[in-house]
Amino acid sequence: MKIGFIGLGNMGAPMARNLAKAGHEVTGFDVNFEQAGVLKGIFNIAETAIDATVDQDVVITMLPNGAALIDVAEQILPVMAPSAFLIDCSTVDIQTTKQVAMMIESAGLRGLDAPVSGGVSGASAGTLTFMVGGDANTLELARPLFEIMGGRVIHCGDAGAGQAAKICNNMILGATMIVTCEAFALADQLGLDRQRLYDVVSTSSGSSWSMNSYCPAPDIGPQSPADNRYLPGFSTAMMVKDLELAQGAASMTKTNTRLGMLALQIYQQFASQPEHAKQDFSAILNEIKMFSDKHDNR
Ligand code: NAD
Repeated sequence: MKIGFIGLGNMGAPMARNLAKAGHEVTGFDVNFEQAGVLKGIFNIAETAIDATVDQDVVITMLPNGAALIDVAEQILPVMAPSAFLIDCSTVDIQTTKQVAMMIESAGLRGLDAPVSGGVSGASAGTLTFMVGGDANTLELARPLFEIMGGRVIHCGDAGAGQAAKICNNMILGATMIVTCEAFALADQLGLDRQRLYDVVSTSSGSSWSMNSYCPAPDIGPQSPADNRYLPGFSTAMMVKDLELAQGAASMTKTNTRLGMLALQIYQQFASQPEHAKQDFSAILNEIKMFSDKHDNR
């Protein structure tokens, strides 16, 4: 297929690379020309979003937020081929996703919201999970591409349902990462070896993706951003965004999500230092640890 790929950041670049590696003709675009330039030679790089869209069979977007998605959709929908479809893999708010779905329909085109889980390692390995909202027939057209970029594709319902699933998932992720880091800080205070804590929890009822696959303590468990000086990975700023999306959805639907709200407040406070906002979200271990050390009166 001829594929336009817009947004070549931590996630978009490896996803586009996998599509190109599988033999598709990929043309990428990113407003950050330096970042996009690194990918020249692996696939085509366009100078504008419009150039990356014209004559493509499908356009995939992997953007940081709803404002960027609307900006890109306004540019590309008028120039998409009538038979082409748009797959948005970004994590954005449900209202924006529904607005874009309406823009797609008004343009006489087809589209899906298909946010992902699995992080940069999943994007690189082609093992992402896609949570898809939109028409089932369009999903079948897109399935071969999802199967290259990921291992699992779950049809969650109509437009916006993929984002709803993603927002719920990341609210759990934010809360479990914080409590996993609190457990490491508590183990340190109790004189319990971190590796022993990992060995127990990762095979017990306290296990989670945060502990087992993305351990926030360096040199423990599989490779994670903790082993790479907390370079993202998934930035703290992105986690704040997703927890805000969850709280926006909770207040819109009057849902009681107190732990999700607390996780948002904890991450907002951590991200208030700009250097923390850019770090991987698992770096919150250092903040929790520092706070515990400061109050250690033993
Ligand atoms: P990123 O900031 O690394 O990449 C986003 C890219 O979009 C950047 O390169 C930026 O220059 C580009 N961009 C911004 N506005 C643009 C525009 N108008 N036109 C073209 N390009 C534009 O972010 P990321 O980590 O790749 O995440 C992308 C999306 O995937 C986010 O919505 C995020 O929430 C979601 N996500 C990220 C992860 C992760 O682990 N990083 C995991 C799951 C989902």
